[in-house]
Amino acid sequence: MIHGACNCGEVRYEVDTETRDVYVCHCSICRRFTGSAGIAVLVVDRGAFRWLSGQDSISHWTKPGSDWESWFCRTCGSAVPGTNTETTMFIPAGTVSSSDAELRVAHHIYVNSKAAWDVIGDTGKQHPGAFSG
Ligand SMILES: [Zn+2]
Ligand SMILES: [Zn+2]
Repeated sequence: MIHGACNCGEVRYEVDTETRDVYVCHCSICRRFTGSAGIAVLVVDRGAFRWLSGQDSISHWTKPGSDWESWFCRTCGSAVPGTNTETTMFIPAGTVSSSDAELRVAHHIYVNSKAAWDVIGDTGKQHPGAFSG
């Protein structure tokens, strides 16, 4: 079981999953969203995910002309879980407040557009663009 929360504590969730693989996206859109090197997420089945509180505090924004969406707490601005595909959700890895010692970076995506100062130092598989298996 994975638990997580936003900075102000309004948004809380749990996921009943064995998934421990972290995907790090280095694209310019994720970099602007976080103000950092990108965003690290887990991808989990929608059926395994449950909101514990704060769903009413969540806003999301879709970048015009794309399917890129940011999901965030309206009160504190933290990234929060959101829709990935029809059957999956993404979980921002930095919001995980339990079991995070077991998380490991499995994949880096959009490595070709990473910031020049972003040095990848783990063994995650590097993909030049989108996830390619
Ligand atoms: Zn919050
Ligand atoms: Zn991205």
